Amino acid sequence: MSLLVVGSVALDSVETPFGQVTDALGGSAVYFSVAASVLGPVQVVGVVGSDYPLDQLHKVGRGIDWSGLERAEGESFRWRGRYSFDLQSRDTLETRLGVFASFQPKLPPSAAEAEFLFLGNIDPDLQLKVLEQVRTPRLVACDTMNFWIGGKRAELLRLLSKVDVLMINDSEARELSGDWNIHRTGRWILGQGPGRVVIKQGEFGALLIERDRTFYVPAYPLEEVFDPTGAGDAFAGGFMGYLARTGDTSSNNLRRAMVYGATMGSFAVSAFGIRGFDEVTAADVERRVRGFRDLTHIELAEPIE
Ligand code: AMP
Repeated sequence: MSLLVVGSVALDSVETPFGQVTDALGGSAVYFSVAASVLGPVQVVGVVGSDYPLDQLHKVGRGIDWSGLERAEGESFRWRGRYSFDLQSRDTLETRLGVFASFQPKLPPSAAEAEFLFLGNIDPDLQLKVLEQVRTPRLVACDTMNFWIGGKRAELLRLLSKVDVLMINDSEARELSGDWNIHRTGRWILGQGPGRVVIKQGEFGALLIERDRTFYVPAYPLEEVFDPTGAGDAFAGGFMGYLARTGDTSSNNLRRAMVYGATMGSFAVSAFGIRGFDEVTAADVERRVRGFRDLTHIELAEPIE
């Protein structure tokens, strides 16, 4: 089934204790689509400036449809970040919206028919404009971050009333709800509209909170992590890519999608930028998904009572 993403298509400059990159291909839509494309077709809507290396972009992923990516006069979106020694936190050093500041998304006809829609991290006003143009989506998920929670809260809350799933990281979820407890935060978000919320907790995994039950997937145990940038977007790409591939939005299938999300997140962090996906095949994905089953499965013995 068709999958569409709108989000940033960026040039990222990232410093971690293990190295740094300047103006690397990145952005929420890029991480998302590279991950989702391992599972099936995906179409991207966004904008880049005249300085963007499109030839490099067109080589990434497998069969990503870039026909909805506009090229505008001006500078591309740029983000600069630095991670702490334990990779647990990061500081945004600079966000330059460039051509995104005046972007007016216009979906090509094929994109307007998308069945699965991911509104990646970007100005909530733009997320709303894209949502309005998709005619009959079966499932809509969105992401956001502190930059927009602080700057565009009213628009963000309006968006939340119109989506099925919010995918957000834990510190941003707490900032949004004003509550430190992650389970109360999940409940608060459900009260804003989405029927489901996915709260990503970095190396501690991710929660899927529904009205009547909660599921938890750990992060894949990796001994080498180089660059956490884009893990959340890759998670979303795995999650939505799996739902679009299977066409099943039941609660049990969402749980499976969480494992595909966690698998894609684990590839994203294993190299700088999107390079963690360079060699990834569907068989590699399946192997890791099966690894999760072993990681989390318990055989219960006789009850102790
Ligand atoms: P993640 O590590 O999953 O939060 O995603 C990081 C990606 O988000 C980077 O590739 C950035 O280019 C992109 N990004 C950072 N800040 C913003 C923002 N304010 N709006 C849109 N995309 C952003």
